Amino acid sequence: SCALLLFREDLRLADNPALTAAARSGRPVTALYVFDPDLRGARGLGAASCWWLAQSLRALADDCAAIGLPFAVRVGPTEETVRKAVAEAGAGLVGWNRRYVAAERDTDADIKSGLRDEGVDVESFNARLLYEPWEIEARSGGPLKVYSPFWRACRAKGEPPEPLPKPAKAKIAAGPKLEGIAIDELGLEPTKPDWAGGLREAWPVGEAGARRTLSAFLKRGLKGYATDRDRPDRPATSRMSPYLRFGEVGPRQLWHAAKQAADGGEASAKDVEKFHAELGWREFSYHLLHNNPDLASRNFNARFDDFPWRKPDSAHLRAWRKGRTGYPIVDAGMRQLWTTGWMHNRVRMICASFLIKDLLVDWRVGEDWFWDTLVDADPANNAASWQWVAGSGADAAPYFRVFNPTLQGEKFDPEGAYVKTFVPELKDVPLKWLHKPWEAPEDALRAAGVTLGQDYPKPIVDHRAARDQALAAFDRIKA
Ligand code: FAD
Repeated sequence: SCALLLFREDLRLADNPALTAAARSGRPVTALYVFDPDLRGARGLGAASCWWLAQSLRALADDCAAIGLPFAVRVGPTEETVRKAVAEAGAGLVGWNRRYVAAERDTDADIKSGLRDEGVDVESFNARLLYEPWEIEARSGGPLKVYSPFWRACRAKGEPPEPLPKPAKAKIAAGPKLEGIAIDELGLEPTKPDWAGGLREAWPVGEAGARRTLSAFLKRGLKGYATDRDRPDRPATSRMSPYLRFGEVGPRQLWHAAKQAADGGEASAKDVEKFHAELGWREFSYHLLHNNPDLASRNFNARFDDFPWRKPDSAHLRAWRKGRTGYPIVDAGMRQLWTTGWMHNRVRMICASFLIKDLLVDWRVGEDWFWDTLVDADPANNAASWQWVAGSGADAAPYFRVFNPTLQGEKFDPEGAYVKTFVPELKDVPLKWLHKPWEAPEDALRAAGVTLGQDYPKPIVDHRAARDQALAAFDRIKA
């Protein structure tokens, strides 16, 4: 009998333990991706993620063909579709890499026990995380709620294992090719209008694209990462997040690639430590999600259940989404998100803080917009990060710490290059006023070809007044 390999959020051939095990099982292997738009009520992918998934599946299909691994895509309820495929292929072994959203975890547990009852072997592996969320515990037992002790506990487990190589063509015995549907037919990509032009330009999707993007980062970005990672105007971060989300790269590969760069003297130990620590924040998010399955919908800190959020003003919300708040760093971020499906981490914090604190909108509204528009929209990282900014999360920024968008812009985009890229109507505004155009003398703006309220919006709220209101609102739940 053959081995059936299920691809899910591990759309790669290298460092794919389920694939390696299937290839080594001595059985012929056939691979399947099941697209299940309605997995036990789990949240469906957002629009940008759907776009990414389609590109990634196409790349994976080509990569599988190159090593002689038959690969098919099917749509339907996961359990039923897998059972059918097992019967059709006559599989005696089914393998996959684990998932961590509750609905996925429960589905996989049911598939596993169902197949085992029928005498089919099932094997699952970890391809997605450095450490399984349940392996890390507080000293007194139980989940951790603070990052530093969490990361210390992870590090105490030792180095993550070395990544596995991609199986060679000669090592794969091809199983029967399952009938599948064309990726176009999944309906994952926009047609009318086709808003994905900016995404196509920004991202080489797929495992080979991940490799290229990573090697550019190792050459240019990792050196100086510890300080420059906060600079949205520089190519200082890895842009690995969407590849991690869909599994075109795994964290073990990133861990060891960065370590090798330090060993080879291309980056300092400090840079690599910081990069590893950021991978650690991702691990922490997954630890939180594992222990709090409704992290995207429920305040981690229940005190925030009584927070007096405002009913979102639709004009404010539209301005935030479209990047028309009148605060240049916020608008640059929101436009970067809309056009490229990604936003720099520092600017994510600024934009999230603006929605939550300046506009007093419930963090879940923003989380939902990011979910729809980010190509790296991640069930653990997005939820944990929004709660972190709101102050309702685990080990979160205190609510009273309100980002000042002007000062943040001046500090982290000091030459204004980032704002000018995404808010080109301000490109001739003198740097002195670029992050606060409403304070510029009228003749300076006129010389730059800008009339506030026409070419670029006036601030939709006054930051200082908004901050006071936010703090007053917070006082109501402080007690
Ligand atoms: P790098 O700096 O190169 O970091 C490498 C990897 O480490 C990242 O790819 C990511 O997996 C992880 N990482 C880095 N920073 C963080 C962080 N603060 N928290 C958790 N993991 C981190 N990240 C997502 O992957 N998906 C999301 O949906 C998401 N939503 C966010 C929403 C808000 C409001 C905020 C403030 C942050 C969010 N982040 C999210 C975290 C972070 O912004 C991104 O992971 C990072 O910007 C990705 O860029 P990069 O790959 O170049 O990061």
